[in-house]
Amino acid sequence: MMRLKELIFFVTRRCDLRCRTCFFAAAGAPKNAGEDELSLAEIDEVAARLRRLDSLYFSGGEPSLREDLADICSVFWRRCRIGAIHLPSNGQDPERIRSLCLEILRRLPGIRLTLSLSLDGRAAVHDRIKGSAGCFRRAVETARALAPLRREFPRLRLYVITVVSCENRQEVLPLAAWLEESLDLDGHGPSPLRGRPRDPSLSAPAAADWRDLAAALLPFHRRWLRRGGLPRWRQALAANRVRYLYGLYERVLAGGGLPFPCLAGERIAVLDPEGGVRPCEQASPVGNVRRSGFDLAAVLDGPQARQEHLQARSCACTNACFLENSIRSHPLSRARSLLGRAPSARHG
Ligand code: SF4
Ligand code: SF4
Repeated sequence: MMRLKELIFFVTRRCDLRCRTCFFAAAGAPKNAGEDELSLAEIDEVAARLRRLDSLYFSGGEPSLREDLADICSVFWRRCRIGAIHLPSNGQDPERIRSLCLEILRRLPGIRLTLSLSLDGRAAVHDRIKGSAGCFRRAVETARALAPLRREFPRLRLYVITVVSCENRQEVLPLAAWLEESLDLDGHGPSPLRGRPRDPSLSAPAAADWRDLAAALLPFHRRWLRRGGLPRWRQALAANRVRYLYGLYERVLAGGGLPFPCLAGERIAVLDPEGGVRPCEQASPVGNVRRSGFDLAAVLDGPQARQEHLQARSCACTNACFLENSIRSHPLSRARSLLGRAPSARHG
């Protein structure tokens, strides 16, 4: 097996929202049952056997509801020498999230912490999609509560992510303009709805709609990059990568395959709250660390996982984490991405 570089840890199924876009809840996740979650000691066993990882991505559920999240970060930092932690949040408890970020930054010197707040529109649209009155206001309060922390710790990055569906497609550009004027962020990352959402009436945007939206979003990305103060050549490379990724989304939404093999289960994999291991978030578990001596790599090397790898290599979706990992391992796609070219019909 290739070395696993990134792990997506669905650290809890507990959540304080019931979003209509949620694919984790739609997959039958028991609401707010935290009973069978891996303990900190079990997570330590998993991390000790992994030895080395570049980045840890949390997912869930609402990750900040796990009371020992800072301890879990410490375990991976100490055992796997991770350099970066990605923490998504629905932003419903500004003080809990602010103090969690502060604790992680203080305890882990040098760690790059990226917090991604979910906003699917301005107040009315966001609250409707998330199914909770006032949740836009609370998420914005969280973004504002993090502003002083970002000044104190430049290694804390703050993004807004937006799930684009047939319902909020028209709302994405007004939201992008509002964010630009109103919040101190590092960027805004819209991406198409994926998986099977809790509300089956929601669907991903059509490819043509995504293409129009992506063209209108690219100037926003360039301005966020300029605000970030990177050297110009790095701004240009980052903008090119976004353009390539958006081209991939369009291609997948149009029913086309990826121009490179997906490396789900090889470079990047998913660990579930109860220890299940999946090659990617859309796949079924191929084993459980509790039944495999806490050896996640051994599960990914097992016969069931190998079968999934073969299928994954010709599969397609719009999950940026998995796409970016696979692009990095495919020289032609990597070159096209850095040059900002559209994905080619095949092989790059
Ligand atoms: S999408 Fe995230 S915030 Fe919303 S219900 Fe699902 S886990 Fe909770
Ligand atoms: S392309 Fe297929 S295998 Fe790869 S991450 Fe997406 S759904 Fe999973």
